[in-house]
Amino acid sequence: MTHQTGRRADFPARPAVWRPPDWMGAALCAQADPDAWFPDKGQSTRVVKKICARCPVRAECLEYAMANGERFGVWGGLSERERRALAMRRRGAAA
Ligand code: SF4
Repeated sequence: MTHQTGRRADFPARPAVWRPPDWMGAALCAQADPDAWFPDKGQSTRVVKKICARCPVRAECLEYAMANGERFGVWGGLSERERRALAMRRRGAAA
């Protein structure tokens, strides 16, 4: 049996392919050990935050993390806790 598109109706839909946003090509963390951006609980984030501070796509990275609800790791120079606080401030400002 075929669908109007010619695709078999019982054939699973092709999974969406995730493509990295263009800005990720300029990410400084792409040149380092990515695990450093996902420290274990209690581990310092000072070194990676210093790298984020120099990153040319910091703003894009942070907004990507905020928009996608990234729960773990350092994104845009902010830790999970700092992003949660930012989200709360934004919600408060919007109310
Ligand atoms: S700002 Fe984002 S893209 Fe840039 S180094 Fe930090 S985590 Fe990586």
